[in-house]
Amino acid sequence: MGTDLRRMSVAVIGAGAAGCIAAIAAASAGARVILYEKNDRIGRKLAATGNGRCNLTNLNQDLCCYHTSEDFARDAQKVNTPENSAGFFDEFAASLSGAETGAFPFPEQNFRMESECGSSVSECTKLLIRLFNSFGLFFHERQGYVYPRTDSAAAVVQILERKLRSLGVDIRCGEDVLRIESAKIPPKTVPGARFKITAGTEEYVSSVVLACGSPAGPHLGADDKGYRFAEGFGHHIERPLPALTSLTVNDKLLRTAGGVRCEAKIEILCGGRAVPGACECGELQITGEGISGIPVLQLSRSVSLLMKEKKEDIAAIIDFLPEFDEKDFLEVKKTRISGACGDDTLADIFTGLVHPKIASYIIRRQGCADEKKIRNLPEDGKEEIISGLLDMLRNCLLPIKGTGGFEKAQAACGGVVLSELRPTMESRFCSGLYIAGEMTDIDGRCGGYNLTYAFCSGYTAGLHAAKDGT
Ligand SMILES: Cc1cc2nc3c(=O)[nH]c(=O)nc-3n(C[C@H](O)[C@H](O)[C@H](O)COP(=O)(O)OP(=O)(O)OC[C@H]3O[C@@H](n4cnc5c(N)ncnc54)[C@H](O)[C@@H]3O)c2cc1C
Repeated sequence: MGTDLRRMSVAVIGAGAAGCIAAIAAASAGARVILYEKNDRIGRKLAATGNGRCNLTNLNQDLCCYHTSEDFARDAQKVNTPENSAGFFDEFAASLSGAETGAFPFPEQNFRMESECGSSVSECTKLLIRLFNSFGLFFHERQGYVYPRTDSAAAVVQILERKLRSLGVDIRCGEDVLRIESAKIPPKTVPGARFKITAGTEEYVSSVVLACGSPAGPHLGADDKGYRFAEGFGHHIERPLPALTSLTVNDKLLRTAGGVRCEAKIEILCGGRAVPGACECGELQITGEGISGIPVLQLSRSVSLLMKEKKEDIAAIIDFLPEFDEKDFLEVKKTRISGACGDDTLADIFTGLVHPKIASYIIRRQGCADEKKIRNLPEDGKEEIISGLLDMLRNCLLPIKGTGGFEKAQAACGGVVLSELRPTMESRFCSGLYIAGEMTDIDGRCGGYNLTYAFCSGYTAGLHAAKDGT
């Protein structure tokens, strides 16, 4: 590093969403910044987000879109209301509001927030959009989900890289940080040096931002080693668990319906009882091994937590007709039963209601064959059999084996315990050490919330790391 004795020096470990924006914030605030990345390029996970389109944020913001384990432990009923993260979002909004915007010769985009919950998370989203506008990145939105105008995650990485380079950030790809220590005998050339970083070389810096991510997505180079750095400074790690992942089921017959996508309501049960807050509607995807799709990803967090507590008898109950109320459904049942004629097969009963593969799965689960003719059903049990088959459309119980794990996960719940961090993301145990992004114990719902948090916490950490001690 150079020898400007007036400037803070900041090392950012990890060039993902949080690390890149932290380096930009720190460099914009005047610090000399080294950005370490063990992969051969920056933003590898970021480039894979949103199926390559990057769902960067969401206009529908509320604190209940973000989870922390501390709240879960405090009150299982309140799993969706992490009040204590409010202080963090207040600080993020304050940090981002000072961000230099309008530097690019384009107007700022003012999207109307879909839900103005009166909280600072809405403000954070608006400021984040403006910040990216100032870097030259523009957005469009679909039902509140915000994507780059070009639907390109690669463009987000390119824009960040250009900004980093224009600010003179020293980007060191292919450098795996091995050790971070308190500097015992700091060199005089680095003012306020508090940390020694060992990677390819040794560097002394005044502040460190840890933004090493979580183990979600190991095929993108993700691992859990970042937590060891935090532990080295006395932090506790809430055991990371896969979130936003698929679910596997104990039902080989489900393969019959493999490849089907359909609207459904899915609820998680444990010991036959509904798990509070674990119910989602949306497009269900049936895979070879189990179930996936956005509603399942949202529910996987609850399953991970139940499995951590060694709970048994976990099941998902699927309603394949979520838009029918009880009265409509009874009407459908009545007409299907009265309209079934001798030549019809069992599969015919479902025609026009659900995908034939779902019909086939349900019929086989009841031990029947699709092509069985209605006339071959026992006359006195006919109604009951048809009614039972149709009822399974509303409450199809799937025994859950587990989750798709970190391999299929988009995020991790758990991480560095939040109460050990200040709202500026600084460690309460070690001044000058900041921790941001997915390494910390906040995870968001599917829909742009994880990147919102990574960018907001990263920006805040970088800004304060640069100002620290000045
Ligand atoms: C397939 C997929 C799709 C997703 N889609 C979306 C989406 O559309 N919207 C959304 O909001 N979220 C999405 N997410 C989640 C989102 O990508 C993450 O929450 C976010 O990227 C976390 O950012 P981060 O900077 O904290 O961590 P990361 O992006 O994981 O970055 C951490 C970086 O640190 C580096 N690193 C770790 N240790 C070291 C070390 N010792 N030395 C040097 N470098 C190190 C890693 O190589 C990595 O590049 C998706 C995730 C996945 C896996």
